[in-house]
Amino acid sequence: MSKPRVLITGGAGFLGSHLCDRFLADGYEVICMDNLITGDLRNVEHLFADADFHFHHQDVTEFIHISGRLDVVMHFASPASPIDYLELPIQTLKVGSLGTHKALGLAHAKGARFFLASTSECYGDPLVHPQREDYWGNVNPVGPRGVYDEAKRFAEAMTMAYHRYHGVDTRIVRIFNTYGPRMRLNDGRALPAFMSQALRGDDLTVFGDGSQTRSFCYVDDLVEGIWRLLHSDEVMPTNVGNPNEMTILQFAEKVLALTGSKSKIDFRPLPQDDPKVRQPDITKARKLLGWEPKVPLEEGLRRTLEYFRERMGAVAVAR
Ligand code: UDP
Repeated sequence: MSKPRVLITGGAGFLGSHLCDRFLADGYEVICMDNLITGDLRNVEHLFADADFHFHHQDVTEFIHISGRLDVVMHFASPASPIDYLELPIQTLKVGSLGTHKALGLAHAKGARFFLASTSECYGDPLVHPQREDYWGNVNPVGPRGVYDEAKRFAEAMTMAYHRYHGVDTRIVRIFNTYGPRMRLNDGRALPAFMSQALRGDDLTVFGDGSQTRSFCYVDDLVEGIWRLLHSDEVMPTNVGNPNEMTILQFAEKVLALTGSKSKIDFRPLPQDDPKVRQPDITKARKLLGWEPKVPLEEGLRRTLEYFRERMGAVAVAR
């Protein structure tokens, strides 16, 4: 019997590339699609020798043609850091709206299961804490983050419409802050910023007074949660993330302690609409999927630091 086939949009990105690894390891043929505006071929270069791995250089907002059967469509393409949304506002809106429409149309045509990578940004700057799936959120549609938040909210609505109207078998995960190897060194998010600053000996740029909170999940835990949700029957959005909440200042201090860096903290202005708190309520994932994160922060940070050291070494050599 032939292997099941999956299309992963954004497959050369941080999360997408880890999913490529997981699907290949589980006996799938993987079609990785990426336009490489924020993705990077280095994330999947170790897979090119595998006969079950195929790379399509394509923007998913254009018509997607895949010949043959398809069992699963994982829609993970999107810029995903606040700096990227500022630089790529139209592409961010397009991939969440037009790209989701194209990916859903493909899943419908092929009779494939569709899996949407949604986000805790759907909750905006939340007035309910921690965030449960039945909270509708507090999003500024016209602020700088609106291009991502509203595109993802539209993507969820479109996914549910394809489910209800066309009967497409759909899943929606709301992903909270995730970190690990293959994050872009300069993507501007807290962890890559702090790690590369600490390793270079630069001061760590903490925005605001650093009292805003986030809850960081190691990528392997996230992938396991996604895998279980894909194979469950749950159609409504499900939070996957690590509830271990801390302030951004504490997080910066952890990175300093781990790297042994002598860098100081450089307080900078807080970006507009930066959520003040964020923590996933994962009661649903615990009950439904029997899932919870396993990798402690220190362990995850150590593994990520190894990757950053290697990559920064490679960058220095290339200069
Ligand atoms: N942040 C920071 N310094 C940086 C990058 C980010 O203090 O160099 C803060 C940011 O203001 C936010 C938190 O860290 O409060 C997490 O930001 P990130 O961009 O990682 O993701 P977000 O959770 O805001 O989408």
